[in-house]
Amino acid sequence: MNRQCLICASSAVLTRDAAKGLTLIVGLLHSAIKSAQRPDEGSGHADFLSGMASIAPAYPKARKAAEDVVRFHFAGFNCLCLRCGALFD
Ligand SMILES: [Zn+2]
Repeated sequence: MNRQCLICASSAVLTRDAAKGLTLIVGLLHSAIKSAQRPDEGSGHADFLSGMASIAPAYPKARKAAEDVVRFHFAGFNCLCLRCGALFD
């Protein structure tokens, strides 16, 4: 969906759902990368498997972080303009 800011007409508008999804993905990726980089683990394929195995246990924490981002940055609105910071529906 292509939206424009009601204040500055910028098309750099982030929706609440997109922000939630992106935060969730970033949280899960962070966990996978952190787990794959542990020095005491194996190397190569074992690191990859370790990273992948850490994704499911990391989900509750990543979901909580995504809900916090939506709560604190969107404050009940559906859209955030990334240019001027306006919140609107
Ligand atoms: Zn704007």
